[in-house]
Amino acid sequence: MTLEEKIKNAIRDIPDYPKKGIIFKDITTVLNQGDLFSEIIDHFAGKYQNIDFVCGIEARGFIFGAPIAAKNKKGFVPIRKKGKLPSTTVAEKYALEYGFDEIEIHIDAFRNIKNPKVLIVDDLIATGGTAEAAVKLVRKLGAEVVATAFLIELTFLEGAEKLRNMGIKVDSLVKF
Ligand code: AMP
Repeated sequence: MTLEEKIKNAIRDIPDYPKKGIIFKDITTVLNQGDLFSEIIDHFAGKYQNIDFVCGIEARGFIFGAPIAAKNKKGFVPIRKKGKLPSTTVAEKYALEYGFDEIEIHIDAFRNIKNPKVLIVDDLIATGGTAEAAVKLVRKLGAEVVATAFLIELTFLEGAEKLRNMGIKVDSLVKF
């Protein structure tokens, strides 16, 4: 079986969660298989050795982003929901289905390194709104977004298209 097939078999679909009409892609059934989890980390870590930092988007982006960074001896930078980071931040608002949300990054997250190369990681891209806001945050700090990486892409929501229109490379392992 290919890595993609193994992941597709392991993902658990939860209908009508968190609300009616949404099919939630549950990845806890991927994470609890040690060999598979490790293979996913090795896949991305192998592809992105030529970067300076990995940014993970709260919360499931941390699960994949941090081990990818550690494996390549790169720094890990959390992008968090508003109000969670303790020091000075820059923020970016983005639209949700109803209303707005906001994510933040520490202003000195990249340790004042000039034009660092950054990989942004999340578990899943749907509409791309969250990832778009993350790209804007990273760019605000003068960093170059080398790519955005996701375990899962929901292609029918065209989030990847949105990012590509911003000149961003989108790398998703499994597509639905
Ligand atoms: P979006 O901003 O629309 O691309 O949404 C991406 C964020 O929402 C990611 O952090 C995902 O974890 C979460 N998400 C959106 N849709 C789903 C889904 N169907 N299953 C699991 N997570 C989802």
